[in-house]
Amino acid sequence: MLTCQSLWRDCVDCFSNTVSSETFQRWFEPIRLETFENNVLTLAVPHNFFLEWFEEHYGNFIIEIVRHNFPANTDVKYIIYTEQPAISVSAEKITKKDKNNKFSDFIKANFDDPANISGLNPSYTFDSFIVAGNSPNSIAKNVSMSVAEKPFNNAFNPVFIYGGVGLGKTHLLNAIGNDIRNRFPEMNVFYMQASVFMDKFINNITSNKSQEFKQFYSSADVVLLDDIQFLKGKQGTQEILYHIFNTLHHNHKQIVFTCDRPTKNLSQMGGMQDRLISRFGWGTSVGLYPPNLETRMAILKSKLTAAKRDIDPIVIEYIAERVDSNVRELEGVMSTTLANTLYQDNVDISCVQKIIDNIVANDSEVDRISYAVAEFFNLTIEDIVGKSRQKDIALARHIAMYLANTYTKCTLQKIGALIGGRDHSTVKHAIDNIRKLISTDPDMRKKVSMFEKNLSYNKKNRN
Ligand code: ADP
Ligand code: MG
Repeated sequence: MLTCQSLWRDCVDCFSNTVSSETFQRWFEPIRLETFENNVLTLAVPHNFFLEWFEEHYGNFIIEIVRHNFPANTDVKYIIYTEQPAISVSAEKITKKDKNNKFSDFIKANFDDPANISGLNPSYTFDSFIVAGNSPNSIAKNVSMSVAEKPFNNAFNPVFIYGGVGLGKTHLLNAIGNDIRNRFPEMNVFYMQASVFMDKFINNITSNKSQEFKQFYSSADVVLLDDIQFLKGKQGTQEILYHIFNTLHHNHKQIVFTCDRPTKNLSQMGGMQDRLISRFGWGTSVGLYPPNLETRMAILKSKLTAAKRDIDPIVIEYIAERVDSNVRELEGVMSTTLANTLYQDNVDISCVQKIIDNIVANDSEVDRISYAVAEFFNLTIEDIVGKSRQKDIALARHIAMYLANTYTKCTLQKIGALIGGRDHSTVKHAIDNIRKLISTDPDMRKKVSMFEKNLSYNKKNRN
């Protein structure tokens, strides 16, 4: 074995003299010599994906070098590391692969469905993510597709996808994960809501398992973390994420984040470590914006095709023209309209307008207002709808209620329900308070009128 090791060292020298230092580090350093018996050199590599890629690109090269240093009729065989097995996307596979896998207990304790720990929603794919016309959202989709095609050693890592409520962040993130799983079944892909990641972290700290938690997530090939704004003020979770990020990034593993705002607004929001924010911005940031008219039409048509239903084109156009703030809302109006056609023969424009007025538009308009107010005051939407009585948060909440009352058709009761489950007298008090401030405080007058301008500007410019 000694001579065999020194022959292998000679091979390693040849590799490092021939390929670039980065390639050497990534593809040759992880290879370990296992045995040399009966003229077969057995080498161990980290996981199947590594093996596939390596054999395709360097298989002949390695045989050539090995045969130059070992006997000329030597064959090369590969196995996967045994002492540190790769985690497969399927826990079933993991259990079969290695019963003593050190992660299996962690999986059992942390995942309700150990057979599917990737957390991906299979119906969110690139095919069903529609971008039509010259929508700026094509950039986010193209970057996401490039990452899925090559989730290693690409120029985009990490990807940071930002955008408001219902614009497709979760859909796109899942589409990346699903596509990677189809292309590279052996890669370990994890999708997770940041709030779920935080809960799991807290559970593991309390059971003194934070080291295992870190090791587990650091062993992934692709980590997709949704809605990272939820980590605001959660120092412990941010700390662990920072370390996991560093390990993954150092090992050229793909990371994709989504957030309700761009990184520059994230630092203004406060409660998020600067060093983490700076890492979010290391790779590529792409925004998702309210869909243009062509996209809205295309989404509605594709939903109808998927549901094998048909409705009057005038109705489709009517919905597409009016329901313009986000896709969730568009889907809501469409499904309610379809449901109405089941028990009503004539679903005409006036019926659809009622659906828009009464069911969806108002809710999302209030959400949109709350979101705009939160962003302006560097707060999160959770602050606005939460229970905090902190002065600046309460004032922002009052402004949101005032604007919702002025700009939507919602009743005070409905506004209260949408903004943190408050009753109608609380909303009335908030509106009176802002009216009084507008009449006495020029600064407040300026702020409110700025919101008013923005709200009508956004409405006009969405097409
Ligand atoms: P976000 O995470 O940004 O709040 P989601 O990804 O949950 O938004 O999207 C809300 C709904 O709209 C989902 O059902 C999603 O499939 C759909 N959706 C969003 N964008 C598109 C799009 N471009 N094409 C088709 N469906 C979309
Ligand atoms: Mg989402």
